Amino acid sequence: MMDPSAVTIANTFSNLIRIVQGLRDVATSAEVKACVTELYDIIIAGQQSALENNIKQQAMLDRIHGLEEELGRVMTWETTKIRYALIEAMPNSGIYVYARKKSGGPSEPPHWICTKCYQDGELSILQVQHVLHGRQRFLTCPRCKTSIDATRYIESKPEYVSE
Ligand SMILES: [Zn+2]
Repeated sequence: MMDPSAVTIANTFSNLIRIVQGLRDVATSAEVKACVTELYDIIIAGQQSALENNIKQQAMLDRIHGLEEELGRVMTWETTKIRYALIEAMPNSGIYVYARKKSGGPSEPPHWICTKCYQDGELSILQVQHVLHGRQRFLTCPRCKTSIDATRYIESKPEYVSE
C-alpha cells in the first residue's frame, strides 16, 4: 500500500501531466510546443524518479519491519535461554539436555529442553515416549524430531538445577 505522501506526490504528477497536456493542445507556436514537450518530458522523468524512490522506501520499510520482528524474537529468546543450564541428564549417560534452573522465574514443572533447538534459538520441551509396551523409553523433541534412547535411564526425570 502506498503511504499518504506517495499518493499526494502521484496526484501532483497526474495534475501536472494533465495541465501540460492541456497546454500542448492549445499551444500554437512551434517554439511554445517545443517548450511544453520539454516540460512534459521533465515531469515524466520526475514522476518516474518519485515512483522508484517510493518503491525503494517501501522496501526499506519492509526490511526495517522484518528486522524489528527478528530483534523482538532474539530479545525474547535471550531472556528465556538464561532460565536453562546444560546438564548431563542422567549420570554417565552422555545425554545432554538443557534443564530449567530453580531460579528461572515463574513456576513451571521441572523439564528438559532440546539442545539442538536451543542452539537454533527455539524452546522445545523434550517429551517422554514409551514404546514396546513401556520397555523402551525415548526423549523426543516435538520440533526437530530428535529422539534420544533413554531406556537405560528409565527412572530418571527432570529436576530443577541450581545456578
Ligand atoms: Zn529439537
